[in-house]
Amino acid sequence: MSFTLPPLPYQEAALEPTISSNTVAVHYGKHHQTYVTNLNKLTEGTPYATMSLEEVIKKAATNPDHVGIFNNAAQVFNHTFYWNSITDKGASAKPTGKIAQKIDADFGSFDKFREAFVAAATTQFGSGWAWLVLNNGKLEIIKTSNAATPLTENKTPILTIDVWEHAYYLDYKNLRVDYINNFLDKLINWDFANQNLG
Ligand code: MN
Repeated sequence: MSFTLPPLPYQEAALEPTISSNTVAVHYGKHHQTYVTNLNKLTEGTPYATMSLEEVIKKAATNPDHVGIFNNAAQVFNHTFYWNSITDKGASAKPTGKIAQKIDADFGSFDKFREAFVAAATTQFGSGWAWLVLNNGKLEIIKTSNAATPLTENKTPILTIDVWEHAYYLDYKNLRVDYINNFLDKLINWDFANQNLG
C-alpha cells in the first residue's frame, strides 16, 4: 500500500460534546479510510504510486482523466489537515503567538476574522471546505467545493473546517452554523496554525 491513514491525534471520544465519538468513528474510520483505500486502488501500478500525496494532488489536478485520483488524494490530504486543525486540549477561542498578530494585521481584529470564517463556512453551497490560508504572505479565508484544495492554487493552508454533511449531520442535523460556531469556539488548534505559518 502506497498511501496510509494517519493516526488520529486524539481518542475518538475526545471531542465530545462538540463532535461526538460516533461522528469521529464514521468520519475518520469510514470516510477518511475509504479515500485512502480508493486512492491505493486507483494508483496501484501507476507512476502515482511512488509519488508523495502532495505530488499526486498537483499532478492529477492537471489531467481531467485522473479526476478520481485527484478527488481521493485531495480528500486524504484535506481530512488529515482537518483532524490536525482540531485539538482536544481545551482550546481557547482566541489565537496566541504569531498567528494572533497576523490575524490582527491582515483582518483588522479577531472578530473580523471570525465573522469572515463563519460566513465562508456557512455559505459554501453543498459539500466542501472553508480554509484559512496564506496567499503571497497575507492571510485569507477561502472556500473550496467537494475535494478542491488550496494546494493547487499555490496557497498555504493554515486551518480548515470540513462542511460536508458527514462532518456534522449526526450531531447537528441541518444546523451547520452551530457546528461551525462550536468548532471555532472549542476545537481550533492554534498551535497547528502557528506551525503552518512557518
Ligand atoms: Mn469529511
